[in-house]
Amino acid sequence: MRLDVVTIFPEYLEPLNVSLVGKARARGQLDVRVHDLRTWTHDRHHTVDDTPYGGGPGMVMKPEPWGEALDEILASGAPDQDEPVLVVPTPSGRPFTQALAVELAAAPWLVFTPARYEGIDRRVVEEYGSRLDVREVSIGDYVLAGGEAPVLVMVEAVARLLPGVLGNAESHRDDSFAPGSMAGLLEGPVYTKPPQWRGREIPEVLVSGHHGRIARWRRDQALARTSTHRPDLIEACDPVGLDAHDRAT
Ligand code: SAM
Repeated sequence: MRLDVVTIFPEYLEPLNVSLVGKARARGQLDVRVHDLRTWTHDRHHTVDDTPYGGGPGMVMKPEPWGEALDEILASGAPDQDEPVLVVPTPSGRPFTQALAVELAAAPWLVFTPARYEGIDRRVVEEYGSRLDVREVSIGDYVLAGGEAPVLVMVEAVARLLPGVLGNAESHRDDSFAPGSMAGLLEGPVYTKPPQWRGREIPEVLVSGHHGRIARWRRDQALARTSTHRPDLIEACDPVGLDAHDRAT
């Protein structure tokens, strides 16, 4: 998968060199290209923002550098490469969910446009929305100073879904929100050795060796945790994914 990120703070994307994403890059599973938006400015101060039409506080990112940057990046695709999906981080976008991460993980090429100030001149989304799949995405109901942290969040969520990136391909099958055996519920608690720690025991069922009882226990824990922390997920749960025992729990 190819990922391009255009930003005025390229150094903010340094974490893409470490851990899971860094290893995926080193193995050639991810081709990550971080670009400095100011490369596509032509004045002495490398200006990327201006005052908002209509007045009001804050500055707005100018359309010209974004247009030149995106045109050049789009033109750099290999002749046989599909068009990228353009991901525009914004608090006013659609919520970023595991389902959207799965959708984006199926794309061969993603281009991210993390903004600063009050965001990017609207005409940029209109312009590229007329020829590309453009997704305006929010990572949560709060406002950050810039879109770089949202890009780190989205890239990590997408990268771990790519084939061969996680050591164990089954690892994300039972994750919270996964549609598989957990039917979109939150994952319950997990334990490892030692069996006693500060007087606290692990649940006996986990050392019973009884796979059916362990699966049932995990499922009950997932339901209990979801009811407490995210009752909305129970409401939204596909009833086919819940069995009779679940409904009685
Ligand atoms: N005035 C904008 C609003 O209220 O919608 C907020 C602009 S914010 C200060 C600057 C940039 O940070 C946004 O354009 C976006 O790129 C990024 N950003 C901030 N919060 C975000 C969030 N929750 N999800 C995604 N991107 C976010």
